Amino acid sequence: MLGLMQDWPLLQSRLIEHAARFHGQREIVTYSVEGPIHRTTYSELQVRAKKFAQAMARLGVEEGDRVGTLAWNTWRHVEIWYGAGGMGAVAHTVNPRLFPEQIIYIVNHASDKVLCIDLTFVPLVEAILDSLKEVRHIVIMTDRAHMPTDTTIPNALCYEDLIAAEDGVYEWPELDENTACGLCYTSGTTGEPKGVLYSNRSNVLHTMVTAGSDTLGVGARDAVLPIVPMFHANGWGVPFVATMTGAKLVLNGPNHDPETMWNILENERVTVTAAVPTIWLSLLKYLKKSGKKLPWLNKVTIGGSAAPRSMIEDFERDFDVRVYHAWGMTELSPLGTIGAHTAATAELDFDGRMDVQSKQGRVVFGVDLRIVDSDGKPQPHDGKAYGHLQARGAWTARSYYNLDEEILDADGYFDTGDVATIDPQGFMQITDRSKDVIKSGGEWISSIDLENAAVAHPDVKEAAVIGIHHPKWDERPLLVLVMEDGKTISKDDMNAFLAERVARWWLPNDVVTVPDIPHTATGKIHKTVLRKQFKDYRFPGL
Ligand code: AMP
Repeated sequence: MLGLMQDWPLLQSRLIEHAARFHGQREIVTYSVEGPIHRTTYSELQVRAKKFAQAMARLGVEEGDRVGTLAWNTWRHVEIWYGAGGMGAVAHTVNPRLFPEQIIYIVNHASDKVLCIDLTFVPLVEAILDSLKEVRHIVIMTDRAHMPTDTTIPNALCYEDLIAAEDGVYEWPELDENTACGLCYTSGTTGEPKGVLYSNRSNVLHTMVTAGSDTLGVGARDAVLPIVPMFHANGWGVPFVATMTGAKLVLNGPNHDPETMWNILENERVTVTAAVPTIWLSLLKYLKKSGKKLPWLNKVTIGGSAAPRSMIEDFERDFDVRVYHAWGMTELSPLGTIGAHTAATAELDFDGRMDVQSKQGRVVFGVDLRIVDSDGKPQPHDGKAYGHLQARGAWTARSYYNLDEEILDADGYFDTGDVATIDPQGFMQITDRSKDVIKSGGEWISSIDLENAAVAHPDVKEAAVIGIHHPKWDERPLLVLVMEDGKTISKDDMNAFLAERVARWWLPNDVVTVPDIPHTATGKIHKTVLRKQFKDYRFPGL
């Protein structure tokens, strides 16, 4: 027997419809690419998203077609998300920080029909245009006054002209909720990038869960700043959450320097924000130097890479900001786990709470997680047993876009490529990417734990650990450091510092300093490149 409830497909267009009707005057503020601060509202944005859909239809975009973006977080980018997804097309966010060859590969693999680009990326697109096979129209996301007059992009369209030509009288189609609406390629540290194709249903369910008080914790009174770019795994769903709840949405455009970030946090009275650890490293440093505070900010979500404990402590102790350490991935839309306390862990003293918050948090409803050994046997949740982390659920990918590759096991789980422990309270801790874990004498050493311990040293700016071949132990850790300006450290001093934080047998066999460490386009340490740089390295005396 079927239930007797209404059929109300979970469509992304319903988010913006709801915001326009019930939070219509709530602001969307952008520190824009052109420079000025731009202010609009959900009701205006809804009309413009409809106009965008009309403009795309006029350009020949049909249901299922991909509309690519090379863009920062701006109100226009949000309009494209809702406009393209709402009409049944697919908003494909391309990461502009990738190498040009990867961008060419991604745009061609996705067969983007239209490409919408910020002014910043005009030179990039000019350089690769000849290789973009199926793109029929390039839209520059600006107004007539800022349109470049000397671009070599033939027939470049002006976004504001396209919008102005439409009347906005448009009904979103009543789509099947499983219709695709978003596409995002994984950053691909190995092999070609792979496309994750989100559906209306998966995005809406993800939004509903991500808003909750034990996740991002966003309500109508909040002002939300997703510093995480919209091209990084759906901007972690944060713009959708703001829309659904009617929170003020603050967008930083191309601005990432700590002073501007602080000005935005202060002037817009931001209460909730989210970004990768590198952003917070520079902001915290700026705050310490300038003596500035964060009076409005309540919560910060940190994910994408492991948040060092020292960073979490700084936020909590010095700025009275709650840190939610989260783990996820593009294939999970991206949320998998987030570090809200349980009734029991909230009662712990500061140190105890920091121990818990340094882990990547507990799984949210909508995702199933398990850890398995190399034979696929599930491992206990005792906080000690390591295993390959696997996921399945309502917003987990079941295959990649246009790739003939089975990615689920017999139980329907997707292997995340991460190695983790899960403790009896359900807190998961990432110890490594499977391919980064250091195998020393049959035991595993967590490169992430070592890196986090090393960056707690005040003279260390950044740390990366890789496994180097060792004749006796198979692999041993090499610690690669970027030091603060003018500082140096010896191996013995570093190891003495680390010995208070990690097991003795984990201590690196050598410590080297470099001017900088390579990063991926989403800000993670690029271990593949680092390993290549050190491929001829041998430990002293071997
Ligand atoms: P991406 O799809 O580019 O967001 O990358 C996902 C990967 O980032 C995960 O599989 C993890 O390896 C890593 N990651 C994400 N969040 C965290 C975190 N909080 N701690 C450690 N690694 C993380």
